[in-house]
Amino acid sequence: MTTSISTPRVLTGDTPTGRLHLGHYVGSIQNRLAMQETHDCFFLVANMHAFTTRAESPADIRQDTLEIVKDWIACGIDPERSCVVLQTEVPAIAELTWFFAMLLPFNRVMKNPTLKTEISAKGLGDQYSFGFPMYAVGQCADILAFRPESIPVGEDQVAHIEMCREVARRFNQIYCGVDSHCEDDQHEALGGVFPVPKAMVGKTGRLVGTDGEQKMSKSLNNAIYLTDTPKQVKKKINAMYPGQSREPDEPGDPEINPVFHYAEVFLNDEELLHDLKRRYLRGDNLGDGHVKAHVIDAVNELLDPIRERRAALEGAEGDKKVTEIIREGTARANRVAEETLARAKEAMGLSFFTRTLA
Ligand code: ATP
Ligand code: MG
Repeated sequence: MTTSISTPRVLTGDTPTGRLHLGHYVGSIQNRLAMQETHDCFFLVANMHAFTTRAESPADIRQDTLEIVKDWIACGIDPERSCVVLQTEVPAIAELTWFFAMLLPFNRVMKNPTLKTEISAKGLGDQYSFGFPMYAVGQCADILAFRPESIPVGEDQVAHIEMCREVARRFNQIYCGVDSHCEDDQHEALGGVFPVPKAMVGKTGRLVGTDGEQKMSKSLNNAIYLTDTPKQVKKKINAMYPGQSREPDEPGDPEINPVFHYAEVFLNDEELLHDLKRRYLRGDNLGDGHVKAHVIDAVNELLDPIRERRAALEGAEGDKKVTEIIREGTARANRVAEETLARAKEAMGLSFFTRTLA
């Protein structure tokens, strides 16, 4: 690792509920790639949180843990510079989750809009586990264990980050004597253990899924995965409903066409995008298949180098390499998280003796 301890930190992560998709790329990964140039980055695989919805599928969670790290590396996350962290091997996170659960009113957690949307989108009804809403509290601990300055996330996570910011303020006020009128960026300077970190939403904070309605999501069967073959990408985009029924010579509305949403995000050629929109609006002999063909090419162009880097990580050798990357990253992560926990416990009057992890 080449960054020094005084470099501002970044923490973010993904849950191993499947592989990474285009929404992850534009919502968060692009910012991660930029930030690993300037920040001390910690990227967490939230495998404990995967159990909140997939407790019966431990083998899938295990495999997806490796797949997600492979996706990160294929996208350009550099384990020499950034720390890859396995949540279940950072005990400080679980401990902080307990303490933070006491700082958040129960109804505050249950009314969190991201949780409510997830419960409805994933069809969890009232049958979700006790642990499911706990993941929102746990996420505060994932973040604050690393005392980061910012958190690159998609739009859907902003409500969670707001809760995390509340926890940081409340902890600092109750246990560190920080004044309740203190500015967010002054908490640490005034003796708080935790910074009040900021969400950093990507250029496209919410990429719609191929269903054209819900956000693209691993769990909703509406995703284009970074590992999809060119043929799969073509099939998925060609099957998309363009939001309206029209002939090529009839005017259309690009605003309600999810394929145009992809065109805006993935086409690098501004002039082409402008021309497609103009012709669509006018009904100037532009079929939906034509727009789709451009989007398919653009997406495949983005994915080609990712596919190539990922191919080098396939199979048992790749699993071994990735496991070693996770082991090294998690060892470093534990040093930071243990220091945070020790500071938090000291502030809470719990520092009876020093403990060290073996
Ligand atoms: P799940 O369906 O299991 O919740 P997910 O697809 O929502 O999976 P997460 O692991 O929950 O993925 O999210 C990882 C990160 O990617 C978060 O920062 C989230 O905001 C961002 N993200 C996820 N989906 C999108 C999307 N469609 N557009 C933009 N950002 C996204
Ligand atoms: Mg999600």
